[in-house]
Amino acid sequence: MASIADRFTSALKAPLRPLARRVGLAAPKNEWWNARRGPWAYAPFDQPAVCNVCRWRGDSFVGPFHAEMSTCPVCGSVSRDRFLLHSFFTSIDQPAGLRVWETSPRLGDRYRQMMRKHFEYFASDYDLSAHEGDIQIDLQNIALPDESVDVLLTPHVLEHVPDTDQALAEIRRVLKPGGHMFLQVPLQVGATRVPPEPEFHADNTPVFFNFGWDLTHRLRATGFTVDVLVTEEWRDVLRGSAPAIASNGDGFDVESLIAASRTTLDLDRDLVSIADRRAAHVLGVLPPYHHVTWRCRRTN
Ligand SMILES: [Zn+2]
Repeated sequence: MASIADRFTSALKAPLRPLARRVGLAAPKNEWWNARRGPWAYAPFDQPAVCNVCRWRGDSFVGPFHAEMSTCPVCGSVSRDRFLLHSFFTSIDQPAGLRVWETSPRLGDRYRQMMRKHFEYFASDYDLSAHEGDIQIDLQNIALPDESVDVLLTPHVLEHVPDTDQALAEIRRVLKPGGHMFLQVPLQVGATRVPPEPEFHADNTPVFFNFGWDLTHRLRATGFTVDVLVTEEWRDVLRGSAPAIASNGDGFDVESLIAASRTTLDLDRDLVSIADRRAAHVLGVLPPYHHVTWRCRRTN
């Protein structure tokens, strides 16, 4: 709930905003990408649905709860986009001005414009065909200097890279000591495997691996300090303190994910909740097993 002071302030600001816009003190209405406040300062979770990319607030996202759906009607973010930024913004207190690199972001020009307003931001793509990037980067041979990046956001790219260990070593090289990688892959099975059938994502990019929880150990072997960021509900399910969830035919083998987590992870130490049940609902990051981000910190 918003505090009384917050509500009082909002009540004062609302009628003044059109005037502030007219004299250039506030961003034009609906131009969320021009907002002066950084996206990490998004509204408290006092609405049914809040987008942490564009700060839209409303009754619900569009479409069912799913990592690739549950879409923001204003900026087009899907729930994994919001979970990625939430992972970033709950991990780093003062992110303004950091050098942020993102591989093949889903979101287009307005999102990138917003990111460039607050960060030294650039987007890359492997061949600039499936996605537009500012530069072309092969994760196995990264054309960036050593220790030049504060934060890497890499959603759903690593599974498309043939040599995982080479890519991780290259990423560690270009991160500054103390820098972070926020890594997402589609985590649909408990243990890493080569796809049993040739697999291509919608943009025709081949998938070399279906990663499982053991990716955590490979990240550590590369020299990162690693936490597995999840919602509170998924953490509780995996630890056995909340009722198990069953697979519902959406391609996620939930039984395998639960069983393998218990043999692969130290559930008390490795899993970190970054969204309680209310926050997960408001950000639309459900169902719980669709949302995992590996937070990897280069410590030296
Ligand atoms: Zn949005």
